[in-house]
Amino acid sequence: MTHREKAEKLLHQQYHCSQALFGAFAEDFGLDLKTAFKISTCFGGGMRQGGTCGCITASLLILGMTIGFYDSQDREQEVYGNKKTEEFIRLFSERMNGAVNCRDILGKDISKPNEMAEIRKQGLILHKCPGAINISIEILEDMLLEHFNGMIESNLNLEDIPENDEMQTVFKTIQKFRHFRRNVNNLLFSSKKEIGFIQFDVRKFKIINDLYGERFGDQVLEFIMKQLEKNCLDEQFFVNLRSDVFMVVMEYDEEQELVDFIEHLDSTINCYKDVKIQLCYGVYTVEDKEMEFRQMEDRAAMARKAAKNNILTNILFYKEQFKDSLYNRKFIEENMQTAITEKQFMMYLQPKYSIAKNEIIGAEALVRWQHPERGMIFPNQFIPIIEENGFIKKVDYYIWAEACSFIKKCQQKGLRSFPISVNVSRIHLRDNECIQVLSDLIKSNGINKELLELEITESADDQQISRKAYQLKEEGFTLLMDDFGSGYSSLNILLETPFDMIKLDKKFIENMMVSSKGRLILEHVVLMANQLDLGLLAEGVETKEQVDLLQSIGCDQVQGYYYAKPMPEKQFFELLQKQQHEIG
Ligand code: C2E
Ligand code: CA
Ligand code: CA
Repeated sequence: MTHREKAEKLLHQQYHCSQALFGAFAEDFGLDLKTAFKISTCFGGGMRQGGTCGCITASLLILGMTIGFYDSQDREQEVYGNKKTEEFIRLFSERMNGAVNCRDILGKDISKPNEMAEIRKQGLILHKCPGAINISIEILEDMLLEHFNGMIESNLNLEDIPENDEMQTVFKTIQKFRHFRRNVNNLLFSSKKEIGFIQFDVRKFKIINDLYGERFGDQVLEFIMKQLEKNCLDEQFFVNLRSDVFMVVMEYDEEQELVDFIEHLDSTINCYKDVKIQLCYGVYTVEDKEMEFRQMEDRAAMARKAAKNNILTNILFYKEQFKDSLYNRKFIEENMQTAITEKQFMMYLQPKYSIAKNEIIGAEALVRWQHPERGMIFPNQFIPIIEENGFIKKVDYYIWAEACSFIKKCQQKGLRSFPISVNVSRIHLRDNECIQVLSDLIKSNGINKELLELEITESADDQQISRKAYQLKEEGFTLLMDDFGSGYSSLNILLETPFDMIKLDKKFIENMMVSSKGRLILEHVVLMANQLDLGLLAEGVETKEQVDLLQSIGCDQVQGYYYAKPMPEKQFFELLQKQQHEIG
């Protein structure tokens, strides 16, 4: 990730400008994010009192950390440091047209609590601060490059720098990249052939680290470097960009050569000390050799990320659409706060039916984003993004509140009560906040706990989820295991987590229905659910054939387009009224 991307991500995670900026550079001088936040929070306080844009304080600290003005007794260093500081402030002020105070940038005084509340409410930080942050990054990158170029030219000797000095790490890293870039530029310039950028990383590297320890993780990375050394020829350049991300740049005539290269490399890396190593590869084939190096690298990165989400292949070539998905991400990140404040998120309800009774027995709450210009945006387009940046919490809290007030409304209007289930993103299961939020909602709406059911997606992790699920269960909530059969370890999770009910995934049912063997498995899952005293519901039921089969094997509860699509709350309410009227 570039400094800019890192800063953007942090800003969207609600860190303030100095934290986002300082955090974006932290890795460069060997600081972990947590420590970086602690440091930048301190000068965040100063920022609030003094009113100077936090980007300035953060940038000066970054310059200090990377260049290293650590000895106040050294006059020469002090003069150099002062010069750099002044240079930054001058350039920043020029590029910002003189706006160096928060008040100039945000139009509000951040030292006043009421104005700060207004800033939050209007989402001003996300609107106004990225500009100042990006300008700071551009200036800093140029200044640092100039500084290190100067050091290289003056032939500064690495031995002169104390062992373990952060400077040494930074210096080595910069040298490594310069070397790599120079080689690639030469290749781009001189080669008559096509050029391909291959970027890859280790699938679930974090899990390897967690399971086998970080030392083992480091060994895996060293092993990959060794294999690259063995596999790459003279004109095939490689580098370890960061952590588990690697890149190879090479010439080729036919694209198949790139695939052959990758497949061969993959066969030499796929296992280390009996642990399976899975890599995913993104490839960018250079069309315009004049394009900026960073852009080529970014395109290979986009393809790599897409390969990560693709279950059919681990090698993907860059396509223009990836750029669209990047625009989509940006759109979502820039508009999500306004969507909350302007109530653009809406709760839709999809009825759940009993086949035997042919009656509604409950509903699932599903979020919809009604954007004034873009129209309806469906959850699959924005949930994965807001799960990454943590914003899902706000959206879920909103939908949970809507679901609770709907339950209350049904009670007040004398309708028979049905449970409404809400989706609980896995993000909530990392902290204790969600239990409190749910309990408060139940209390403030005066509703019965049994009427709010929680859907938790089946997933390969993890003990933390099981623990949280036990807590929710102890609090008296009903837990539904969502998407059963879409992952790998469903049965295992049933053992570890106290679910009350399982929801069979749409794909699972479809897959199982095409063969007699599949039907047998489906039958046994139904049997197992019965024996374990678990409720069972089939999702995504679209055809009469599916309904008949499910009924014949003893699965009575269903949800799907065959019965009804998700609908606005008002429409669902009317449907309930109609049903009650008919049943009497
Ligand atoms: P999910 O929880 O598995 O929800 C079921 C999805 O299947 C819904 O998609 C629903 O509209 C769709 N569906 C229902 N019946 C049929 C059918 O017969 N055929 C087909 N093809 N689809 C059917 P939706 O609403 O687009 O939501 C997609 C996913 O987004 C949900 O999958 C859930 O994981 C997530 N999601 C939706 N709303 C929320 C929310 O408020 N909070 C959280 N955390 N996640 C949500
Ligand atoms: Ca669900
Ligand atoms: Ca589901």
